[in-house]
Parts: sequence; C-alpha cells; structure tokens
Amino acid sequence: MAKGRVFSGMRPTGRMHLGNYLGALQNWVAMQREYDCIYCAVDIHALTTMTAQETRNIGSLTHEMVLDWLAAGIDPERSVVFVQSHVPEVAQLHTLLGMVTPLGWLMRVPTFKEKVRQMQETEESVNYGLVGYPVLMTADIILYKADTVPVGEDQVPHLELAREIVRRFNFMFGPTFPEPQAKLTETPLVLGLDGKQKMSKSLDNHVELAATAEETRKRILTAFTDPQRLRRTDPGRPWVCNVYSLHKYFNAERTQVVYDECTTAKRGCVECKAEMAEAVNRTLAPFRARRAEFAAKHGYVREVLAEGARRASAIARATMAEVRERMGLGNP
Ligand code: SF4
Repeated sequence: MAKGRVFSGMRPTGRMHLGNYLGALQNWVAMQREYDCIYCAVDIHALTTMTAQETRNIGSLTHEMVLDWLAAGIDPERSVVFVQSHVPEVAQLHTLLGMVTPLGWLMRVPTFKEKVRQMQETEESVNYGLVGYPVLMTADIILYKADTVPVGEDQVPHLELAREIVRRFNFMFGPTFPEPQAKLTETPLVLGLDGKQKMSKSLDNHVELAATAEETRKRILTAFTDPQRLRRTDPGRPWVCNVYSLHKYFNAERTQVVYDECTTAKRGCVECKAEMAEAVNRTLAPFRARRAEFAAKHGYVREVLAEGARRASAIARATMAEVRERMGLGNP
C-alpha cells in the first residue's frame, strides 16, 4: 500500500528550544517512518506578523532552524525539506483558492481575532495576509496533494477550514484534491523557565537545543520551582514544579526518585535543577554533535534546501497544470 503524504510547516524563528523539540520536532522525525513527509519552512507565513526590520533576518533564521531539523534526525533523502517561498506555485494556488473562499469563513476563525488582538490592530487595519492565512495554509497542503497533516487540538479549526475549501473547490471544478486529514498529535505543554507560560523564545524563558552544555546548565539553574518551597527543609510539591515535569522528559528513569526525594525534602531545588541540566545535556549531546558537523559543512543547508525545492517544485508544477485545466484557465 502506498504511504500517506504528510505536509507540515514551521515558521522560521531561528534556533529551536526544548519546547519545540518535545512539541513538534520529535514527532516530525518519527513520522518519517510511516509517511512520505514534506517539511517546509513557511517564510511567507512569517511575513504576516513580522516587521520590515525582522524580515531582513528571515534567511539566517531559516538556516538556523533547518540545521536543528537536520540535527534532530530529519533526513533530507527521505523527506522533502524546503522553503515555502522557493516554490512560487504556492502563491498562484493561494490566489486561485481565494476565489472559492468566502470572506466570512476567514473572519470567523478564532485565531484571527486573537491575532488581531495580540497585534493591537483592528480587523480593518490588519494586513490582508493575516486574513488570508488559512487560504495560504490550505494551498501549502494541497499543492503537494498531502493527505495527512499533524496538528495539535488548537489547530483543528484551521484544518477543518482547509477541508471546507477543498470540498468547495472539488465541488465547483471536479475532484482534484484529497481532503487532508488531521493527525492529532500529543504535544506536551512545555512551560518555560518562569514556570508560568509556554516555553517561548520571545518570552526569553527557553533553553536552546543548540546551547552549549554550560549555557544550558546556567539557564536551567534559573528555573522557577515550587513557589511555596521557601526553605531547603520544606517538602516540595513536584506536581506544581516545572523542573519536575522536565525530569519526566529528559530523566525519565529517575522520575520516581526525584518525586520521593522532593516530597520528603531529601533533595534541594539547586541539586535537582543541576541533575536535570545534566540529563538535558546528555540527551542532546548527539544532537549537538550532529549540528556542529552539519554547520561545519559549508553550504550544506543551502544544498539541502535547493534539492528540497527541486523535488517540491516537480509536484507543485504538476498540480498547478491540473488546477489550471480544471478551472478553465488552460496551460501555456
Ligand atoms: Fe521541583 Fe526538584 Fe525543587 Fe522538587 S526538588 S520543587 S521537583 S526543583
């Protein structure tokens, strides 16, 4: 039986952190065993919320992010790894899908309103790209005829909208695209070092995968723990402690010991964090060695992305020829 085809993208935000690794990257690596995977640095999507100043760095942010992908085990021989804007057919398909997508569908997307609020804009003042984001996302997926899209619970409405756009297109112009199915992925909520909010680079509560062992140790030693544990002799509450939850991911075989010693005040938070930092460094050592190796190969990431764009373009051109025929535009 033919393998399913997965499409998934990430905005180029530069070096990735522990939260990205546990949340998405590990899953991407695992999916390569079951699916033909297309992994895309969605740089056009990034433009919807970036300032002109920030867009100047997109190239280097992409490079750093893709280095992390490759070091984590994304295999460019097996998977197609490329940059969204390097395959311009996606912009053509976005335009054409815009003709079959009612504006009301886009304005109703809950994350649209949320983004408008976050950007301190109004629905009238935001750029068109932000409104059309789900159409571009649909174009990303169906340009490559992907049938499976890994999503977290919060992204299900986006994928449902993509499916509606596909159904409408297929109804109007004949069956052309598979309706992409959501593959619900369990993405653990990894809190940042502040112990309050999701780990995020913009909140500076993160630990980069590519950090050195010493940087990692220093960062982790700043982590907030159980706020009610004021003295070393106070028993801790691991169930409210973010450091404990990270032990579960990076130091799984010692979780019970950590729990017992914490709740009986046999261990202090400083030693607990130091042990966790060691576990993170141990886990990431092979990743960091591979990353350094790839970074030292001059032009390696550029070559990977060029080959990925070549493979993605071949699929995209065939799809667009079919779409133009279906819509009566014909082909030159
Ligand atoms: Fe958290 Fe460890 Fe301190 Fe317990 S001992 S509160 S698990 S850091």
